[in-house]
This record gives sequence, C-alpha cells and structure tokens, in this order.
Amino acid sequence: MIFRRSLLFASLAAMCATGAWAQSAWPSKPVSLIVPFAAGGPTDVVARSLAASMSRTLGQTVLVENKLGAGGTVAASYVARAAPDGYTFFIHHNGMATAPALYRKLAYNPLTDFEFVSQAVDVPMTLLARKDFPANNLQEMIAYVRANQSKINLANAGLGAVSQLCGMMFERAIGVKLTAVPFQGTAPAMNALLGGQVDILCDQTTQTIPQIKAGAVKFYGVTTRNRIKALPDAPTLAEQGLKDFEVIVWHGIYAPKGTPKPILEKMNAAVRTALKDPDVTRRMADLGAEIAPDSKLSPEGLHSWLKSEIDKWGPIIRASGTFAD
Ligand code: ASP
Repeated sequence: MIFRRSLLFASLAAMCATGAWAQSAWPSKPVSLIVPFAAGGPTDVVARSLAASMSRTLGQTVLVENKLGAGGTVAASYVARAAPDGYTFFIHHNGMATAPALYRKLAYNPLTDFEFVSQAVDVPMTLLARKDFPANNLQEMIAYVRANQSKINLANAGLGAVSQLCGMMFERAIGVKLTAVPFQGTAPAMNALLGGQVDILCDQTTQTIPQIKAGAVKFYGVTTRNRIKALPDAPTLAEQGLKDFEVIVWHGIYAPKGTPKPILEKMNAAVRTALKDPDVTRRMADLGAEIAPDSKLSPEGLHSWLKSEIDKWGPIIRASGTFAD
C-alpha cells in the first residue's frame, strides 16, 4: 500500500515536472489573445468573433487584449518574450511578414521566435475618403489627389499595418506622395476620417462595410482581384484601371516559442471549430471576410505561407525605401 502510494506520488511528480499535468488540465484559467491594434478596429473585430466561439469550445474565456504600437511590432515583441505556458496567443495579419523589411531593428524573428497555430480568415480592403472629399469616383479621386497632393493626408495604423501597405501601393500606383498620419489602429483612424480630420484611408472590410453601407464615407473600390459577395456592386480598383492592384489581409494565430504541442493542438482544434461556428461564419460573411481553406489551417501551412509572404514583400518594400530605424 505504502509502496503503491509512493508510486502514485512519484508519477504525479513526474507529470508535473514534464508539464504533462498542466497540459492535460489546460486551460484552467482565461487565455489571452493579443491583438496588435486598437479595440473596435478590423483585426480586433475578427479576434473577438473567434474568441467568443473559442471560449465556448475551451470552457475558459479567451480574453482579447489590445497591445498597441509601432504597426503591430510592440505586440509581436511582447508575445515573443511571453511565457510559453499556453496562456498567451497572438493574432496578427500580413504585418508579421512585412515587418522584417520595414524595421531595421526588429526584436524578434517571425519565423523562428513563435509557435504556429493556424490561419483564420482572409479579408479584402477598401479605399475610402472622408464624406465631403471632392471626388465621387476613382478617376475623379485620382485626378484630385494628383493635383492637390501637398494638401492631402493619408491615415494608417503605422509602419507594418496593412493600411500603410495599401496606402503605399496606392501612392506608387498613381505616382504621388501624401502626408501619412499614423494611428495605433484603424479604429481611431476611421474616427478621424468620419470627423473629417484625415482625407483618405485604406482599410479592411471587417471595419469599413458598416460605414460604407451607412454612406458615412466616400468609397472608391475593393482591393481584391474579383468583386466580393458582401459588396457585389462595388468595383475593384484593378477593374477601374489600377492594374494588378491587389491586397488581401490574411490572419495568423501564433504562440510564444516553446508552448507545448498538446496545447497548440487543442488551440488549433478550437480555431477550426470557430471557423465552422455559424455565429462566426455569418458575421465574417457579412463583413466581407472569407474563411481560410483547410490547407491553411495547419501550423505547417501557416509557417510556409508566412515564409512565402516574407519572400514576396521583402523586395517590394526594400525597393520602396520605406523603413524605420
Ligand atoms: N487595419 C489595421 C491595419 O492597417 C489594423 C487594425 O486596426 O486592425 O493594419
């Protein structure tokens, strides 16, 4: 009996030492999902929609936390250094791939300092101006911007934000240089657009569709190759003459390097369940987002996608001469 009890204690001690105990009980408290931009913005909207469903699957709250700054790199540095205990996860978009070319001193390596969970949704962007901007279609807008470029500003969510990337591509496509006004997310940038303090914003449909439908902004087109179901009458920028203009915002979910594999697997399963949850699919469809195909939902799928995006954007960004020290 004494022998058996000591055996039990010995195996319990071994489980605790290897972390097996903690893993089988995971999650025993709320799990943080870090969002690198302001609450209420497009990345936050995606994160909160997934988090509500994942909380139901995991039986613990998935708590969305907004860590702002430097186009998402403040949050990424925080997660790269967080404890790999299964209680910190990170959702980020294309910025994970563009940051290495944009920031000369980046405190993390996106490919080696994280564990990879899954992709989630792909989101188109839309080109907008303040409601009283004196141009009613893309051709008028381009002509007005070219003629008044020194007076026009362009809001974004900082270097590494997709709003900055889309704005930079628009400037290059029409041959202008506008004054950038950075915010800590496009939720505050949208407020400034609605208030008429900034002129132009390129932003994801997960924030812009309600404002477009309400007629609160001027809307010039979507950044996808084809028209999107959520805005069927809206032309693409490419079909209106901005040849090959294409930006699609993809989202990856990451964890600090060293997070135990069984936890990553449970998180991956919770993401997959969320992506089939009717509450999530309905909301994402209304907001123009597409659920990522199964091939993008594995950790390996996310890792190879991120690598291909780093390889794609690095040369384009370096050629543009855009960077921060
Ligand atoms: N739309 C932002 C971006 O430009 C991010 C956000 O606020 O969600 O990256």
